[in-house]
Amino acid sequence: MAEHESLEFGKADFVLLDNVSLEEFMANLKLRFEKGRIYSYIGEVVVSVNPYRAMNIYGRDTIEQYKGRELYERPPHLFAIADAAYKAMKRRNKDTCIVISGESGAGKTEDMSVTSVCLYRVKNMLLKSNCVLEAFGNAKTNRNDNSSRFGKYMDINFDFKGDPIGGHINNYLLEKVGGLVKGAPDAQLRSLHIQRDPTAYTYIKVGGQIKSSINDSADFKAVTDAMKVIGFTTGEIQTVYKILATILHLGNLKFGSDGDVTLIENSKLVSVLGDLLSTKDENVEKALLYRTVATGRDVIDKQHTHQEASYGRDALAKAIYERLFCWIVGRINDIIEVKNYDARVHGKNTVIGVLDIYGFEIFQNNSFEQFCINYCNEKLQQLFIQLVLKQEQEEYQREGIPWKHIDYFNNQIIVDLVEQQHKGIFAVLDEACMNVGKVTDEMFLQALNGKLAKHAHYTSRKLSPTDKNLEFDRDFRIRHYAGDVAYSVVGFIDKNKDTLFQDFKRLLYNSSNPVLKAMWPEGKLSITEVTKRPLTAATLFKNSMISLVENLASKEPYYVRCIKPNDVKSPLLFEHERCKHQVEYLGLLENVRVRRAGFANRQTYPRFLQRYKMISEFTWPNHDLPSDKEAVKRLLQGCGFEHDVAYGKTKVFIRTPRTIFNLEEQRAEM
Ligand code: ATP
Ligand code: MG
Repeated sequence: MAEHESLEFGKADFVLLDNVSLEEFMANLKLRFEKGRIYSYIGEVVVSVNPYRAMNIYGRDTIEQYKGRELYERPPHLFAIADAAYKAMKRRNKDTCIVISGESGAGKTEDMSVTSVCLYRVKNMLLKSNCVLEAFGNAKTNRNDNSSRFGKYMDINFDFKGDPIGGHINNYLLEKVGGLVKGAPDAQLRSLHIQRDPTAYTYIKVGGQIKSSINDSADFKAVTDAMKVIGFTTGEIQTVYKILATILHLGNLKFGSDGDVTLIENSKLVSVLGDLLSTKDENVEKALLYRTVATGRDVIDKQHTHQEASYGRDALAKAIYERLFCWIVGRINDIIEVKNYDARVHGKNTVIGVLDIYGFEIFQNNSFEQFCINYCNEKLQQLFIQLVLKQEQEEYQREGIPWKHIDYFNNQIIVDLVEQQHKGIFAVLDEACMNVGKVTDEMFLQALNGKLAKHAHYTSRKLSPTDKNLEFDRDFRIRHYAGDVAYSVVGFIDKNKDTLFQDFKRLLYNSSNPVLKAMWPEGKLSITEVTKRPLTAATLFKNSMISLVENLASKEPYYVRCIKPNDVKSPLLFEHERCKHQVEYLGLLENVRVRRAGFANRQTYPRFLQRYKMISEFTWPNHDLPSDKEAVKRLLQGCGFEHDVAYGKTKVFIRTPRTIFNLEEQRAEM
C-alpha cells in the first residue's frame, strides 16, 4: 500500500474523513503533523503546517517523483500542486495561479520559494530576485524572525515549450524597514558615515522593528552579489546603500528651538546627508526646517514647528524607503520581463502567477495597516468562495452533471463595508482627509458611526457601550469572516494622507545622483504647478487589491492554506486552540463539505483508460467498445463502483478518493 493511503499517517485528503466535523478535522491535522506529514489535501487545495524544522523533502529527486503525476498518486506535496498548475497551463494553454495564504509565520514565503524552485527549473535570475526582495522587504517581528512586510505577486511567463522565460513582480503595501549596519564591510560603512554598532541608530532601536534581514556579512555579500547577477550597476548598488544610510542618519536627527526658531541640534548630520544625497547641505537643511507654500500669487517659506519638523523627518525616512523598494522592484522587472516575444513565431506565452501575501492579523493594538491587511484577506476569501464554487459549477455544467448548491457564509457584505463607494469605510476616511482644516481621528470615527450604525458587521464603543471587547472610546470593530477585530482610529487620518512635504520631493529630484533623481520624478514640479492632490493610501491600496483580484480571477487557481502550529516556533508543539482558530477562519471545513458534495476526482476517458485498463478484461489490452466512455463504464461496473461515479461528456467523475485509491491498489497488484 502506498504511504499516503496508510492510516498510520492519518488521511492524506480531508475529504476522506469519516465525518466532516471540526473534531475529526483537527485530530487528523494533529496526527499528520506529529508524524511529520506537513502537507495534506482538501481535493486540490494544499493544507500546509509549518514544521519549524528542516524537512528532507525538497530535493531534485523529489521534484522528479512528482513530475507528470496525478495528485492522488503521491503523498501530498507542494510539488504536486506546482506540477498540476504547470500541466494545466501546458495542456490547456491556460494561465494558472497559486495563491498562498495564512497568518504571519505560517510558512507562506517558504512555501512560495519551494514552489518556485519547482517551477523555475533553470531561471536563476528569478530566484535571485526573490533573494533581493526578501533582503529589503523582510524584517524581524515578534511573530516571525523573517517576516515579509510586503505582499508579493509574481507572474512567471512560459514559452510554448513550457520553459520559463521571464516574469513580473507586483508588490503591495510595505511597512518601513531598514538595515545594513551589521553586514556591510568596514570601508563601505565609513563611506556611508555609519557606525558598526546598531544601537547607535534610533530607527533600529525603536520597537526593534526596523531591522532588515541583512544580518551578517554573509547575507550582505549574498544580497550585493544577487543584485550584481540580476544586473544592477555598481552605481545603482552604491546608491541603494547610500539611501539606507540616509534613513539611519535621518533617524538620529534632533530638532531643537531657540525662541520661535526651529533648529537642527546635531547639524553635523546635515552635511552627511548632503553628501549621501548628492545635494547641497543648505538645501537639506532648508527642506528639513521649512516648507514652501503658495498663497495666492506669492510663494513664501514657512518655518516648521518643532513637531512638524519631526513629523516631516519621519515621513521622509519612510517615503525614501518605500520609494527605494518600489524602485528595486521596478529595476528587477525591467530585467526579468519578457522582451521581444513574438507569439506568431513562438506560440502563446502563458503565465503561472504566485501570490504570497500577508494573512489575517489581529494584534493587541490594530491600526490602519491591519485594517488594510484584513481587507485584503476579505477580498481573497471572496475570490476563494467564488472560484471554488464557480469552478466546480462550471465544470459540472460543461460536462452535463447535476449539481447541488452548498451554502457558505458569503463575506461580500464585509468587502462592501470596506470598499463601497460613498458609504464604505475607505470612502468615509477619504472624505475626512479631503476636508481642509483639522479633521481629527475622532471626527472620522463619528462619521463612521453616523453612516454605519445599522451595519451588522460594524460597531463601535459609542454604538455598543456595554461590549467588553471594545475597551477604548476610539475603537471600532469589524466582524470579519475570520473573527472580530477592534481597530483604533488613532493615526488613520495621517496614515491615509501619507503626506510628504513637497519640498522633500524637490530636494531629492534635484540631487546630482541620477539614480536618486529618477526615483522622484514628481519633484520636477514647482510649488505653483502642484495642483493635484495625491491619491490616498486607502485608495491606492483598494485599487491595487481590486486589480489583483481581477487578475487572479482570470486564471485557474490553486490554493495553499498555511497553518502556524504554535507561537513559539517549536517543531513539536501542536497548539490545539491556535490551530482550530485558523482552520475555522480559513473556512477549511466548508471547503471539505463543498468538495465532498462534488466529485473528488475527474479524468478524461482516454487518460483514465491509459492508467487503469489493465485491471479489467474488457479493456485490456484494448477494448472493442464504441467509445472510451463506454469502455470506462464497463470497467467501473465490473469493479462495483457504479454508485460512486458520474459520466460527463468528456470526463468520468469519481465522488470519493477512496475509489481512486482502490483502483490504484488493483493496478499495483496486476
Ligand atoms: P509572514 O507573513 O510574516 O511573512 P510567512 O507565512 O511568510 O510569514 P515564513 O517566513 O515562510 O512565514 O516562515 C516562518 C519561518 O518558519 C521560516 O523562517 C522557517 O524558519 C520556518 N518554516 C516555514 N516553512 C518551513 C518549511 N517548509 N520547512 C522548514 N521550516 C519552515
Ligand atoms: Mg512571508
